[in-house]
Amino acid sequence: MTEQVDVVVLGLGVGGEEVAGRLAEEGLEVVGIEHGLVGGECPYWGCVPSKMMIRAANLLEEARRIDGMAGHADVTPDWAPVAERIREEATDDWNDQVAVDRFTGKGGRFVRGRGRLVGPGAVEVDGARYEARRAVVLATGTVPVIPPIAGLSETPYWTNRETIEAKTLPDSLLVLGGGAVGLELAQVYARFGVGVTVVEALDRLLPVEEPESSTLVQSALEADGIAVRTGRRATTVAHDGEMFTVTAGGELRAERLLVAVGRRADLGPLGVDSVGLEPGAPAVTVDERMRAGERLWAVGDLTGHGAFTHMAMYQAGIAVRDILGQDGPPADYRAVPRVTFTDPEIGSVGLTEAQARDAGLRVAVGLAQLPSSARGWIHKAGNDGIIKLIADAEREVLVGATSAGPVGGEVLSMLALAVQAEVTIGTLRHMIYAYPTFHRGIEDALRDLG
Ligand SMILES: Cc1cc2nc3c(=O)[nH]c(=O)nc-3n(C[C@H](O)[C@H](O)[C@H](O)COP(=O)(O)OP(=O)(O)OC[C@H]3O[C@@H](n4cnc5c(N)ncnc54)[C@H](O)[C@@H]3O)c2cc1C
Repeated sequence: MTEQVDVVVLGLGVGGEEVAGRLAEEGLEVVGIEHGLVGGECPYWGCVPSKMMIRAANLLEEARRIDGMAGHADVTPDWAPVAERIREEATDDWNDQVAVDRFTGKGGRFVRGRGRLVGPGAVEVDGARYEARRAVVLATGTVPVIPPIAGLSETPYWTNRETIEAKTLPDSLLVLGGGAVGLELAQVYARFGVGVTVVEALDRLLPVEEPESSTLVQSALEADGIAVRTGRRATTVAHDGEMFTVTAGGELRAERLLVAVGRRADLGPLGVDSVGLEPGAPAVTVDERMRAGERLWAVGDLTGHGAFTHMAMYQAGIAVRDILGQDGPPADYRAVPRVTFTDPEIGSVGLTEAQARDAGLRVAVGLAQLPSSARGWIHKAGNDGIIKLIADAEREVLVGATSAGPVGGEVLSMLALAVQAEVTIGTLRHMIYAYPTFHRGIEDALRDLG
């Protein structure tokens, strides 16, 4: 069977769902193909359930902080309600209804199956062939990287999916990888009483962030009882039916092993060679309008511009406009915000100090410690955090910033705006910051800029 349609969207995660729904609303004949759950990684195994777990774990920690602030803590962690709440809606039947509500209801057609490109504008799924008059949009996301560590592939290791689906807690958990996913889940499990060890091959946690953020997050995790092993590369993994043994400059043992060393686009099975793309490439290269080839667009994680839901949605908006032939600004990645939802939250935007120096800018740096701000002093327990500003001293604008603290991701918003809109340092210095807020720490960091 061959069918002509306007647009075929391959993968209905956050990015694909947005593109497919909006183009269908515009009256185009759209077929959306998804082999898993419509909505993708974020609502079922990513952002949403992990933040539900984090919320529960942070409530526990806040309750423990009552001691010395407002009474005496007596907290018994109970994992069951969290695990139950996360699982309650993610069934296939319920998800079919999601597809109807969010996509089919807008005029699109939903096909459940695993699709692959078979030439420019052509996609096959389960023997059916769809030919797109206007566009094929690739939005198939990424899969976890499983490193080639001897023995690992024969063991029952966890990825983020099993870690989020777990109905019972193990006694111990070893986390391979000190990035955002590994650290968020490590802290949740530790706060629910699991003995957690984090192993990171590089010399610091969150290696893409500022060194100050790495130090901050490491001491927060250690305060939660997590053993942090940086500069340790795992070389072998074994499982004896009950326990994992990981060799990483010494032997480490744990009941469960979470592999969280990154994610990669899995282009081979997508048939990208049929449209002249490299199946082994780490990402699909797109231009500033998300174009990847003839009648071909790509959005989301698989473009390699940052594995964030907000990036997938941003790129989806650009692709939709371009496919509809509408004008609008091209992709601009100067002020990409990112948040690691540990406690303290590590928010950042734009360039780090090292990236700004590598770019040849005349860099000025301003640093403020949250505990010594008025709000930090008032907040007391759990007040750790920093504000770090990276300025281009020549143009007198911020090119990057870090906001780490109890609500680091929220405080980040005005810094993201400042970087995006190139608000001058003079303007930032002479505006009014509400007292006593955490964002007032930005004023302290501006003073430190010199
Ligand atoms: C634990 C964890 C926590 C996260 N937390 C955050 C967070 O707090 N904030 C944030 O911004 N981001 C977070 N992310 C990242 C976020 O989930 C992703 O950036 C987002 O889901 C990317 O959307 P996407 O549309 O590119 O891909 P996905 O959501 O991965 O969707 C791709 C879809 O394509 C489908 N697919 C793949 N191949 C095919 C095929 N051949 N045929 C049909 N369908 C196919 C897949 O089944 C999937 O549903 C987190 C990720 C993880 C793993």
